[in-house]
Amino acid sequence: MKKIIAAGLCILAILIAILLVNTWRYKAETPSVSEVTLLLADETAPVERLAAAIRIKTISFEDETHMDTHAFVSFHRFLEDAFPAIHEQLDRNMIHDYSLLYKWEGSNPALKPMALLAHFDVVPVEPGTENSWTHPAFSGEIADGFVWGRGTLDMKASLLAIMESIEILVQQGFQPERTLYLALGHDEETGGLKGAANIVSLLKKNGVELAFTLDEGMFILDKELSPSKKPLAIIGLAEKGYVTLRITAKGQGGHSSMPPAKTALGSLGRAIAALEKNQMPSSLAGPVKYLFDAIGPDLPFGQKLVFANQWAFKPLILKILEKMKTTNAMIRTTTAPTVISGGVKANVLPASAYALVNFRILPGDTVKEVITHVQNVIDDPDIEISIEGKEGIDPSPVSSPTAEDFRQIQRTIMEIFPGTGVAPGLVMAGTDSKHYTRISDNCYRFAPFVLGPEDTFRIHGTNERVLIKNYLDAIRYYTQLIKNTSKK
Ligand SMILES: [Zn+2]
Repeated sequence: MKKIIAAGLCILAILIAILLVNTWRYKAETPSVSEVTLLLADETAPVERLAAAIRIKTISFEDETHMDTHAFVSFHRFLEDAFPAIHEQLDRNMIHDYSLLYKWEGSNPALKPMALLAHFDVVPVEPGTENSWTHPAFSGEIADGFVWGRGTLDMKASLLAIMESIEILVQQGFQPERTLYLALGHDEETGGLKGAANIVSLLKKNGVELAFTLDEGMFILDKELSPSKKPLAIIGLAEKGYVTLRITAKGQGGHSSMPPAKTALGSLGRAIAALEKNQMPSSLAGPVKYLFDAIGPDLPFGQKLVFANQWAFKPLILKILEKMKTTNAMIRTTTAPTVISGGVKANVLPASAYALVNFRILPGDTVKEVITHVQNVIDDPDIEISIEGKEGIDPSPVSSPTAEDFRQIQRTIMEIFPGTGVAPGLVMAGTDSKHYTRISDNCYRFAPFVLGPEDTFRIHGTNERVLIKNYLDAIRYYTQLIKNTSKK
């Protein structure tokens, strides 16, 4: 007996030793980078130009007949006036009337080109919330150290910062070695099917293959939002896919005084409950694994030990991540019932009823797999399942977190935002980048704006704004990024 206890203790001691050694050896591969100070000749005019851009109501509507085409043309004019050097030096192509593709020819045609992506359409202000804005949504007010307005964070501040940086570099006589494209979409908020999709088709037709693209998608989390409690920039490597399914239940219609054992509404309710109970499987893989590998070493000891020993704690990690909706969305295809409809009168049994269920698909899963999963879970001959609206979109491919261009983006962030950690990650929403995966293996998604806990609600919400200091840093960031990435 003593021998067994001794052996058990011995095994336990070895196990603890392994866990501790792994934790001790668990370190992030952080390049050593020194801060770069870039002085801007003028810190006032760029801010006023951003404010002016916000005042142009380039709103995207699901129903495109509502589009104010004059606003989009005004935006083109505005860019021409604001950035004369760009319009003199770079070629410009108009795509589908409103999207813009600029080309800055590189000195070395043997190098693969790169592309900076942005969009200048914005989402509408939700009716009824107009008066909740501290400054009117399209005022472009400059107050309290911020530029206020719809489209500041998503994403005119990024777009303008890129333009400012190119304008500065052109004026300085900078010559990129590799060709740089600047692609500005006009319909990202409704899927980019006219803008980004056609820009990509044109480039593809011309035989262009891009070394990498950089678009919106992720931000810098401030120390309150960051799991490691220090600012964390996340570079999105992929974005989730999307499909909405219509679940239609059939039943016997008629008077409600003598209902059958199984009704349409009953079947529908059971189906939705079953889908919520039987979620798609969770997984710690791809961009999310890269994220935790990058931030794990900076976590407090207990968490660090767990992430350093994923071979032992993976089920526990998944359990913990499943508990919060933000982290749950990172590790699985999510299931969200969003619409339900059926029945017209209290004493009439409906012959059919339907629900819409929206799925955000994790890289690794597909639209097809989601449909199969839903069929298996519901398993009811009285229920039909079909795709609602546009066909579903599979998750994007995953870009490399070790490619040289990824490292250059990381380096630039560390040069301009010292003290900020950098990690790869997964974008939960859709961006124009999904179209560019047709012509580039490495589509990165990051804009250099710092978000705190309440800022996430401002994007597509009320009181969207950008800190002026942050905006000026964004101009420095893109200037440095082009210097770092356009030469080989
Ligand atoms: Zn956007």
